[in-house]
Amino acid sequence: MNLYIKCQNSFQTVFLDDRTKKTANSCNFVMNNNELSYLYMKKCLNEPVFKIISRIADENNLPTYVIGGYVRDAILKRNSKDIDIVTLGSGIELAEKVALKLGNNVKVNVFKNFGTAMLKTNDLEVEFVGARKESYRENSRKPIVENGTLIEDQERRDFTVNALAICLNSDNFGDLIDPFNGIEDINNKIIRTPLDPNTTFSDDPLRMMRAIRFANQLNFTIEETTYKAIHENKSRLSIVSNERIIDEFNKILQTSKPSAGIKLLENTGLLAEFFPEVSNLKGVDEMMGKMHKDNFYHTLEVLDNVCQKSDDLWLRWAALLHDIAKPRTKKFITDIGWTFHGHEFLGAKMIHGIFRRLKLPLNEKMKYVEKLVQLHLRPIVLSQEIVTDSAVRRLLFDAGDDIDDLMLLCEADITSKNEKTYSKHLNNFKLVREKLIEIEEKDAVRNFQPPISGELIIETFNIKPGKEVGIIKSAIKEAILDGVIQNNYAEAFQFMLNKGDEIGLKAKK
Ligand code: ATP
Ligand code: MG
Repeated sequence: MNLYIKCQNSFQTVFLDDRTKKTANSCNFVMNNNELSYLYMKKCLNEPVFKIISRIADENNLPTYVIGGYVRDAILKRNSKDIDIVTLGSGIELAEKVALKLGNNVKVNVFKNFGTAMLKTNDLEVEFVGARKESYRENSRKPIVENGTLIEDQERRDFTVNALAICLNSDNFGDLIDPFNGIEDINNKIIRTPLDPNTTFSDDPLRMMRAIRFANQLNFTIEETTYKAIHENKSRLSIVSNERIIDEFNKILQTSKPSAGIKLLENTGLLAEFFPEVSNLKGVDEMMGKMHKDNFYHTLEVLDNVCQKSDDLWLRWAALLHDIAKPRTKKFITDIGWTFHGHEFLGAKMIHGIFRRLKLPLNEKMKYVEKLVQLHLRPIVLSQEIVTDSAVRRLLFDAGDDIDDLMLLCEADITSKNEKTYSKHLNNFKLVREKLIEIEEKDAVRNFQPPISGELIIETFNIKPGKEVGIIKSAIKEAILDGVIQNNYAEAFQFMLNKGDEIGLKAKK
């Protein structure tokens, strides 16, 4: 039975069956409690592309809706650039007709296997799909996909707040179809599955990651039975590819406070399933009355601190992994207490394996994370000792252009709750920063370019390319870093002559 309730301003909630009668309240929510949301949503529907889709859907007799994240975000007044359109017919054909109407050589990308088509217009990505029903069998991960009704399509979606649809056909343009009380859940900031969560999660276990990602991103709470089902189904995550898992995890890392999402991952048991190294940071040991800090919570604090200063995903990865080798290097030494000697080197070595397993890029992004993990104690050492110019020069040389990010990470690493200790450390880093600027201005080693080239060495001593060239080049670099000579051609040239002499080479006359 379909039941229509008319609201003021012609915003309607459509009831598809008795089960969803409660939705009456959600209509009130939109009208009474959140007039602004309604107006914002109306504004979103003013996008010219919706008018075109509406016309073509009418002409072809196709019931057509905008559905999912775009509707959710419109109601939440969040900016959203990807639009999902579902139609009771062929999504691909509808997309092709819309593209023709849009003109200007708008191209449609067709994904035949998925029955979807995508086009881009005015900065927006619009994806078209036919309404579908999915049924999963016990013994296979791949669902049987058949054409379905709108409600069947909404049922297969992950969360009630992602199952909202708005009609685009002119007769009911702007009507909201909310069979699972998604509006009420948006109002109460709740993540809940439309069906029994065990079914939703077992069908596609990635949805457990998505629940936590949306809770973190939107600052929502996961409803109790949904949360319990994540705990119960956690081991099903093993059938999901790491590419899909890490996509969601990166979205968690890109929120303003990833610690909230990562704590949920840990508490539900999902983190240990795909990222045991981070989960293993958790815990405190005690020996002879001495405890060490909990490196899991410390890491999360460092990560949140970094997020306040930078949006860079890879700096966030470096923060997450900076202490990753602490569990493996942990030792108790009677007179000293807990030590994690060499955790920065072992940590840097662990990055490649982690990145490879999690299908993260094995390129310069990984090298950047390795570098930051390996160097993360160096500025601390500098701030504790009498800082020699040569130590600063070496740090500048090793960090290169990543020196500013390294300093940011180090400052984020101060998590002392003692105000005095905190400001003492921060002040020490301020001095290190000043020293870094002073030395860089003087010696320019941040982007070290050898003042003497290999070719010049070959020509000067009339030798063939070989190990002597390397010896001289590296001696010049060391002499500059140690402050024995200045970073300029004249001093380096003289140094080269002396070094050549020392190893038995004769300069050409
Ligand atoms: P965002 O674009 O911010 O990631 P979104 O909700 O738009 O959020 P998408 O991944 O773009 O998420 O998916 C669009 C819609 O498709 C979702 O709103 C949801 O209705 C549905 N969806 C996506 N992935 C799944 C899934 N694994 N299971 C069920 N439904 C899904
Ligand atoms: Mg989306």
